[in-house]
Order: sequence, then C-alpha cells, then structure tokens
Amino acid sequence: MAGLVASKTVVPRRAVLAMPEYHPPLAGRDALRLDFNENTFAASPKVIERLRQTTAAGLTKYPEREGVEKVVAGHFGLQAEQVLLTNGVDEAIHLLCAAFLEEDDEALIQTPTFFMYEVSAGMMTGKVRKVQSDASLEFPHERFLAAITPRVKLIMVASPNNPTGSVIRREQLLAICAAAPQAVVMVDEAYYHFFGETLFDEVGKVPNLVVARTFSKAYGLANLRIGMLAGCADLIKYVRKVSSPYNVNGVALDCLPVALADDAYVAWYAEQVRVGLGRMMDGLRALGVDFFPSHANFVLMKIGSKHAELVKAMRARGVLLRDRSTDPGCDGYVRITVGVEEHVTRGLVALKESLAEIGWAPQQVGDAVAKEAGEREFE
Ligand code: PMP
Repeated sequence: MAGLVASKTVVPRRAVLAMPEYHPPLAGRDALRLDFNENTFAASPKVIERLRQTTAAGLTKYPEREGVEKVVAGHFGLQAEQVLLTNGVDEAIHLLCAAFLEEDDEALIQTPTFFMYEVSAGMMTGKVRKVQSDASLEFPHERFLAAITPRVKLIMVASPNNPTGSVIRREQLLAICAAAPQAVVMVDEAYYHFFGETLFDEVGKVPNLVVARTFSKAYGLANLRIGMLAGCADLIKYVRKVSSPYNVNGVALDCLPVALADDAYVAWYAEQVRVGLGRMMDGLRALGVDFFPSHANFVLMKIGSKHAELVKAMRARGVLLRDRSTDPGCDGYVRITVGVEEHVTRGLVALKESLAEIGWAPQQVGDAVAKEAGEREFE
C-alpha cells in the first residue's frame, strides 16, 4: 500500500511550492492543431529519410551532442563553445534559470509572454518582475528599461513574442543588454523564420547576450524536442555545466544537421506562413474580428466575452484554437496558428461558421477595442 501513503514530512523548496504551474492541453488534440504554433504540415522529407536510417543498435547508444554542436555552430558562423543544444527551448530556459538565478535575485520579463519564463524563473526565485504591456500589446520598452534594477540577473524576452506576435526592435534589445550588464539577456527567437530579424550576429560581441532558437516551429521538429542557445563562451560554459550530458536524444541529433542543410524546405514553409498570415489577417478583417498584427505564425484575435464559446464551436468542427483569456491583459483573446495554405483555408472556413453559430457580432468588442487601443494598434 506504499503508493497510497502521502508524505506530510517531505516538502519541496519554498520556491517550488510557490512557482506557477503550466498546464497546456496534453491530450485530446486529435484535430487540426491551430493551438500550439506548430508547423501544421511536416518536417523536411530529408529529415524523414534520415529518421528511417535509425537502427536498433543505434538506439542502444547514449547520444553524443558535441559533434552536432560543431556542425550547428559552423552553420551559424559561431564557435562550438558558443552553442549549447537543448531539449527544446523549454529546457534552455530552465537551464538558464538554474545557472544564473540565486534565491534573492530578480528575473525580468514582459507580460503577456511565453509562460515558461515565469515557471522556470519562479523555480529559482520568488522575485520575478513583470512589465505589463498596455492595451496596445506592444513591447513596453521605456517601462521595461526603467524596471531594470541592480538585482536583475536574468532578462527573458521573446521577439516575436507569444501570444501577441509583437516584436522588439534590434536597437531596443541592444539597449536592454547595455542597461543591464550584470544580467544575462536571453532573446528568444523561436519565431525568427516568420520575422527575419535576429541578434545572432551580435553573439560573442555583446557579452551578456544569449539567443535562443527552436527547431519546433519552422523546421517542424517539435516532437524531437530540440533547441539551442548561442552566447559568449564564458556564459554558455555555465549553462552546459548545469545541463545533463544526454539532454538531447540521438535521433534528434542525427536529424538536426539534415534539417539545417535543407534551407529550401524552411524557406518554403516560411513563405507558406507569410502568405497564410496575410490571408488570415484579411479574412479576420472581412469577418470584423479585431486582432494584433502579427510577425509570427499565429494571430491573437480579440473575440470578447464569447471567447470560450468560439473555442468550443471550433473544436466541434475539428479545429483547435488556444484561448489566451487568462493571460495578463488578454481577456477575451483567442490565438490561431497560421500554417500551410490548406490549413489556413480550413481555419478561416471554420471561424466563419463558428462565429455565426455562436451569434458573435463585431460591435460586441469593436468599441471596447477602439477605446482601449486606439485605431492605430488594431486593424
Ligand atoms: N519560446 C517561445 C516564445 C515559444 O512560444 C515556445 C513554444 N510555445 C517555445 C519557446 C518552446 O519551444 P520548444 O518547443 O523548443 O521547447
């Protein structure tokens, strides 16, 4: 009966008790998944070919990360010591927090943003400073700079940001690095391929800059769990120190160089999203739905009080959306992923039908949005 005995004497660290929990839907997603910002189609056919070469003997071996880190560094014009491969960017965030945050240090993030920043930072410290966007949902640059204190040790920002699709300009990111020399500044470029601006060229030059990239989005490898950090060798050294030597599985390591070499595939997918994003935003305008003009592979729509009803009606049509209403400043917002042409079409058709079914009308939110955000911010 040991399994039934609950321990009342063993407690985790205070930070673990206090940290927020992240519960994305982990089941029942057998539908058109426009809820997780994944590649909606496939990984490169060359990656699938490489996967087929996986052997039973190969599975017996512990993975070897180092050689692939050299290949990845070479691909991006970096030194191998400046690169760490991770089990997705999720793990990269976790490792950065473990390596750099003391209990009484502060971490600085914007909100709304990717929730794992708060979860992982909260695991180490109770002092997570959050700078909330105003109703425009743009990056609050001036207030963010003003929130940098000498105690801020880790800054995590995404550009493009999730769930908004807003971006932080290069000069703004460099200003943050300059304003916080005592802090590691992690710039999360998960959605880089849909935007095109990067700080990779500053890696190794700006001493406190670390850039994160995932292979889960444009490359379509979310299921392999692989991402990377790039930064000054003396920072990456500490992150490597706290990482498990076998954090990235060998199947992912085998596939990554193949995926990187197939530039044409990633360019094709990014173009599908570029065109699809235009169609999605035009479609939303035609339906009278307000939205944040996105620079990523998703759009944040302002639905208003019927947000949950919409998600339910879409699910009934086999299309998943992500309700972001509980994100700070996002009441009434729902996010839709933009994928390949056919999936954008299906998403738009289902949206039109679902909005009609739930009796949604533009005026329900139009006035509120215009008042909050001003005409300029929303289309
Ligand atoms: N960063 C951002 C901004 C994201 O939106 C996501 C995915 N939702 C991730 C990181 C996670 O990436 P990965 O799959 O590499 O863990």
